[in-house]
Amino acid sequence: MITTHSHEGKDYYLLNASAAAEAHPCCGVGKTLRGGECDRSGEIEFQGLLLCEPHAEQLQAQDRTDLLEGIVSSLSLCLSSIPLRKNKELSVMLRAQRAQATRELAHAREDLRRATGGKEEAL
Ligand SMILES: [Zn+2]
Repeated sequence: MITTHSHEGKDYYLLNASAAAEAHPCCGVGKTLRGGECDRSGEIEFQGLLLCEPHAEQLQAQDRTDLLEGIVSSLSLCLSSIPLRKNKELSVMLRAQRAQATRELAHAREDLRRATGGKEEAL
């Protein structure tokens, strides 16, 4: 069976042989929440899936960005609590942690931007 895959505006004709697919498993990006299709072979394991290198980098950066966004927003939520605001020492500590997480988030977003080549759907 011959299938047509469109990638970067070019059409590739691939022979769909299951034996070859087993020897070189395809990138599993389609099984992630991100979805999509990818014809490259899976080389790097990420969260139980085999992904091609660009997708693995992209999803790792995405994962880190999501995690840090969660940390920043929960710290902000803590800081908006009135009983906590009365505890000056804890407030100062949480503010410092939020500032650090915000800086790390900026780096993670930069890594993500690089991994996607400046575009959200570059791959
Ligand atoms: Zn891929």
